[in-house]
Amino acid sequence: MNWTVNDVIQWIEKANEKIQTNKQYLTQLDQAVGDGDHGINMSRGFRILVEKLQDTEYTSVTQALKDVAMTIISNVGGAAGPLYGTAFLRFSLVTDNKKELDETTLSKGMVAAVSGMKQRGRAAVGEKTLIDVWEPVAVYMEEVEMIVPDQIIKIAEQAMESTKEIKATKGRAAYLKDRSIGHIDPGAMSSYYILTAFAEVLQGVDAS
Ligand code: ADP
Ligand code: MG
Repeated sequence: MNWTVNDVIQWIEKANEKIQTNKQYLTQLDQAVGDGDHGINMSRGFRILVEKLQDTEYTSVTQALKDVAMTIISNVGGAAGPLYGTAFLRFSLVTDNKKELDETTLSKGMVAAVSGMKQRGRAAVGEKTLIDVWEPVAVYMEEVEMIVPDQIIKIAEQAMESTKEIKATKGRAAYLKDRSIGHIDPGAMSSYYILTAFAEVLQGVDAS
């Protein structure tokens, strides 16, 4: 497999499409357990991000991922901005200025992304945050012999849905205590879009 700069761009473009389409839904989810800005923050930041990627020439995957990270940090508001920014930054750091990434490096990148977000948010799995969706995907990618993109989508979907039953102990939703139960976490939903977009690009990449 070779994951190129163009695949990074495709990934972000597909994620952006899903975020724009579901902007209202992300807002609704954040209205239930937070302050209602997640849809606006993500839609604004990702629109700027897509423009930035279209306007820039990258010579390595590392450089592209780093620019994604910096653009997210500067343009996505709320708690999610620095967390997603950290994810892409940490991902970039394991890619050694490579022009193309193989499957092992992609998995390493995903694992690094998750551990960066856990550090940054001081969060673990089971606290009703975006970590709940990223971590099982990273664990799957790291452990499996050959990554099946459909599996990533399935794992992310189940994980996203499971946040509904969890009581929040991190982020704004934690203020609601037991009343946070019964709602899907907004960050889990946007993570589901980002990771589904990733899997969709992976589907199109030559598996050899
Ligand atoms: P804010 O709460 O500042 O308005 P957003 O609405 O942009 O931030 O994002 C909220 C999402 O961020 C939550 O749904 C959750 O998934 C994630 N989040 C918040 N705090 C943390 C944290 N400490 N660790 C991991 N994820 C977090
Ligand atoms: Mg919010």
